[in-house]
Amino acid sequence: MMLSSKNSNVKGWCPTLNRPMQSGDGFLVRIPLEFARAKANILRSIADASTRYGNANIDLTMRGNLQLRGVSEENYPVLREYLAGLGFVKDIAFNIITSPLAGIDPSCDAGVQQIAKDVAQFINSANIQLPAKFLLVLDGGGIFPLSGVACDAYFAAPFSNGIVKQIIDVLKNTHECKKKAANSNARLPHIGFSPFAGESGIIVAAASFGRIEASSLTRLAVICEKYGNGEVIFSPSRNVILPYVSQENADSALQELEGCGFIVNNNDARRNIHACVGSPACSSGLGDTRELAHKWAQLFPNLMQTVHISGCSKGCAYRGKADITITATGDGYDIAL
Ligand code: SF4
Repeated sequence: MMLSSKNSNVKGWCPTLNRPMQSGDGFLVRIPLEFARAKANILRSIADASTRYGNANIDLTMRGNLQLRGVSEENYPVLREYLAGLGFVKDIAFNIITSPLAGIDPSCDAGVQQIAKDVAQFINSANIQLPAKFLLVLDGGGIFPLSGVACDAYFAAPFSNGIVKQIIDVLKNTHECKKKAANSNARLPHIGFSPFAGESGIIVAAASFGRIEASSLTRLAVICEKYGNGEVIFSPSRNVILPYVSQENADSALQELEGCGFIVNNNDARRNIHACVGSPACSSGLGDTRELAHKWAQLFPNLMQTVHISGCSKGCAYRGKADITITATGDGYDIAL
């Protein structure tokens, strides 16, 4: 969803297609997927781009964005051309998250995407500048709630007739917005199969610590074609959703997703661990957070608490209050309960 944001020189700005961000392992380049949805052929091409021009690692962020990692300065212009060939020409800023299942889940307000489009159009035409990391969440309700997502402004269905104006009034005064922290007690999306009326439903899986390797993305493309409608939706909390999967195919689809590294179990400890990329991928990192996160998941398979592991004191990975906070210091880790 495109909203203007030109604060590339302010602390905390986000990478985009046109303004990649330098990280410890090279440029970070965000793929502008509208409403975070992609067809299988696009997924294959993104995986291919990641292997050719990056380090074959793709991040799925807490906002449901895909980012290529490890792109060199030399490869960046070629990558841009490649992505332009796929139709990714313009940046879209991701200041709005809408319900990922809008138009699919009958219990979700189907109009939520149009509201987002109307708001974005107004903000762009009025040239209203939002803070770089500002996030508006429009929650259409249904089986995939967004109430646990950390954001700066939150509106939930049922939406009134004047909702667009109401939102715009809030966005004109972002300094008055009160941040909404991630809520670890909010209902998490159900991992696995959720049926709708009739035979079909959705499959939800999660990317472990938000990392999807290029080979896994390619296999995801195959799985969504084989069992779903050939499309994948990426969502906040680092989930991947396959719509229109039949009940009889659900187990096979989940098995294949697990086979390529996705989390398919609601009780998987990794769901409760938020770890930033840490060192060496982030130049500020003072510890290999992902390695530690994997160790914690293995050591505490029944982990119920929320754990936030950071490579430095910036604490990028989680905007809520974790039960356990672990921060790399360079000499080891500090742990706070
Ligand atoms: S918390 Fe520190 S090490 Fe981790 S991603 Fe943020 S800046 Fe990098």
